[in-house]
Amino acid sequence: MSVPFIPGETVTVPKITFSDQVRLPASETALIVVDMQNDFVKEGGSLVVATAIETVPHIQRLLESARAAGVHVAYTQDTHFEGDPEWQIWPEHCRAGTWGWEIVEELKPQPGEVVCQKSRYDGFYGTWLDTFSAACGR
Ligand SMILES: [Zn+2]
Repeated sequence: MSVPFIPGETVTVPKITFSDQVRLPASETALIVVDMQNDFVKEGGSLVVATAIETVPHIQRLLESARAAGVHVAYTQDTHFEGDPEWQIWPEHCRAGTWGWEIVEELKPQPGEVVCQKSRYDGFYGTWLDTFSAACGR
């Protein structure tokens, strides 16, 4: 169902049914770990999200389950270089090649898993992540 959005007007969100369990075909499913990098997660990072560290064990369990089931795994990695305009909005973070830019040790990608470097909030903007997602669904 799609709900048209007209700026300035109110949008009614349709009722969504939630379930404790979801079954998906592993070969057509991807788990995408988003921006779990030292600068956002670890003490000493330049732009830490206070609760991010609490999500690490949960994501570890998801990764273990996904890998065991043969689900495709991908990561996004916020990546910035000298003079990036995003640093005018946020403090400097995720400078390519630094400790802060690295994905946290507990969630490191395994061989064969892909890492999509991105320079904007949206991991699909200007990257190949949409192509990856589409390929997983085939
Ligand atoms: Zn950024």
